[in-house]
Amino acid sequence: MRYDVMILGAGAIGVSTALHLQSRGRSVCLIDRRAPGEETSYGNAGLIERASVIPYAMPRRLSTLLRYSLNRAPDVRYSPLHLAKMGGWLFQYWRHSSREGLLRATKAMLPLIESCVVEHDYLIGQARLEHLVNRKGWIEVFRTEKGREAALISAESAAKYGVHYDVLDQTQLRAQEPHLLQAPIGGVHWREPTTVSDPGALVKGYASLFEQRGGRMAIGDARSLMRSGDAWVVRTSEGPITCRQAVVALGPWSDQIFRPLGYRFPLAVKRGYHMHYEKPEEVELGCPILDFEGGYVLAPMTRGIRLTTGVELAGSDAKENWRQVDQAEALARKLVPLGARVDPKPWLGRRPCLPDMRPIIGSAPDHSGLWFSFGHAHHGLTLGPASGRLLAEIMTGEAPFCDPTPYRADRF
Ligand SMILES: Cc1cc2nc3c(=O)[nH]c(=O)nc-3n(C[C@H](O)[C@H](O)[C@H](O)COP(=O)(O)OP(=O)(O)OC[C@H]3O[C@@H](n4cnc5c(N)ncnc54)[C@H](O)[C@@H]3O)c2cc1C
Repeated sequence: MRYDVMILGAGAIGVSTALHLQSRGRSVCLIDRRAPGEETSYGNAGLIERASVIPYAMPRRLSTLLRYSLNRAPDVRYSPLHLAKMGGWLFQYWRHSSREGLLRATKAMLPLIESCVVEHDYLIGQARLEHLVNRKGWIEVFRTEKGREAALISAESAAKYGVHYDVLDQTQLRAQEPHLLQAPIGGVHWREPTTVSDPGALVKGYASLFEQRGGRMAIGDARSLMRSGDAWVVRTSEGPITCRQAVVALGPWSDQIFRPLGYRFPLAVKRGYHMHYEKPEEVELGCPILDFEGGYVLAPMTRGIRLTTGVELAGSDAKENWRQVDQAEALARKLVPLGARVDPKPWLGRRPCLPDMRPIIGSAPDHSGLWFSFGHAHHGLTLGPASGRLLAEIMTGEAPFCDPTPYRADRF
């Protein structure tokens, strides 16, 4: 079976890229080892995060690093053994997190972030998925004066890049979210982001649109990718698929392809968990809430209230450690009346991260017809459609809507 392009990985990035290539007249086969949108793109907090104009840098203040070094903070946990293994990556991350490095990363990411809601809205309209979307933004709440100060400083920095927010005092916060229990002292309401009640269903909805328009989906293992003459071949349950072009969009598993081909991109994972809770009937959350001091998000979702944790630095396949979930849950229960746990065990996800805080989007330096789109870190759901459009424009020779240079693979 021959197509113009095969896309390896049917998460938010792969599915969006498939739709954009298809709309430019390419025949596309989307290949995954399972159904679309069932891995990282399923389990996230559902924020289409227009407000995250400044990427998540590594903290450089000694006081913050000391706090994390105790390994008790709810927002960042680590496995000491893994931290030692990650030393080189962390050093690069630390270097890129300097004031100048962060400014470079912010400017690099801005065109993708700025267009995230518009690009999603276009696909949401085409796929008729408006029922999944909440247009009330999200609220960052703080419980201490110190938290307020830090949250406002970071909000003011973000506002320089054209995002809008309202500062809420305790009364305004109560008025907006009357079901918060022990009311935090205030919050920052980000108005522009949209949020979804089921990110996995959103990606599946995009994938259905791709199929309705004649796109092909196949179950297969990307690791069987081989060169055959000037084409790429992958074995699937439908038989071998042959294409002149292949896109690697395997999120945190992209190294399964680029490593055997000789690339040494510094792709690491920041793990994160989620758990759903029953929502007591009388309780309504108007929009997702981020606990600034606790580093977790509570998002109203189809399955209940989804709590997503901050970062765990541990090996991708290392044993799960649910302490961070327990710790966040204890804090969350003081914030919102949560019912019983819904999931039999916490879900574990892996944010695919590069140390310069931007993804790789573009051609493989040493292999013709091979393309990369991975490393979207904390914002892969947000960036899927914009990132897919950019890669499709580059691949088809159209003028790209933004400068793709910062995302090139050969920067490493
Ligand atoms: C706790 C948590 C909260 C988050 N919250 C947000 C948020 O609110 N907003 C946001 O924008 N982002 C958020 N993120 C980040 C976001 O979820 C990711 O950046 C994004 O899902 C990555 O998408 P992807 O398509 O690159 O990867 P994935 O969604 O993981 O897709 C990769 C696909 O590759 C497939 N695959 C892997 N190996 C193979 C193989 N060998 N053969 C075939 N197929 C294979 C997988 O099955 C999968 O479908 C969060 C992440 C976590 C962990």
